[in-house]
Amino acid sequence: MIKALLTIDDVSSKNTPAIVDYLCEKNIQAIMFMVGQWAENYPDQLVYALKHGMIVGNHSYTHPHFSELSFEECKEEIEKNEELLNSFYEKAGVERKYRPFRFPYGDKGGSNKDLLQVYLKENGFDKVDDTKLQYPWWKERGLDKDIDTFWTFDFMEYCIRPGSGFTLENVMGRIYDTSPEDGAALLKDGSIHILLTHAHDETDEMLPGYYRIFIEELLKNGVEFIKPEFI
Ligand SMILES: [Zn+2]
Repeated sequence: MIKALLTIDDVSSKNTPAIVDYLCEKNIQAIMFMVGQWAENYPDQLVYALKHGMIVGNHSYTHPHFSELSFEECKEEIEKNEELLNSFYEKAGVERKYRPFRFPYGDKGGSNKDLLQVYLKENGFDKVDDTKLQYPWWKERGLDKDIDTFWTFDFMEYCIRPGSGFTLENVMGRIYDTSPEDGAALLKDGSIHILLTHAHDETDEMLPGYYRIFIEELLKNGVEFIKPEFI
């Protein structure tokens, strides 16, 4: 048995409702991480995700590298996005129960890392339940203590771009990789994952319905998608 929590970064986008529809059809509840300045371009799509049961978390307002910002600037990025996200929940008429956060690029803020973790903790952000993850590197890197939501497997489908040379075949290679250089082997029996993919329209143009292709592949291999839980 392999269990996986799906997280989808960089909402919202034009294709967000199509992703949501597909997830609903498969009874998969995902955590979507919102970038405010992009969601402002696609507000209805964000509200659609909320109305259809997705949990939307904070992924900063402009998607910067947090290690290149001062602590004050980091807080502004989070708080501006937080305000906007609250207004989307209100617009959707959905109660906001959980407040997960993900750093853009997984960049935890460099020299401000510890300050930021304290900030997230003291400001009511929710930690995804990672108590069942058994990867030694998860603890070695202190991810078991961090409040923000990291991941154990990255599809890296955002690399599928014109001229990049990265294709669906590379994503499939990652899915079936039994000893990956980063993260954990996805299809190892008994493993539990936090999966990372994105809601990029550019990827959908290159590979229409890319998320369906990946999820079907996982379902075919017996992966069970679990609902988000927090501690
Ligand atoms: Zn992102």
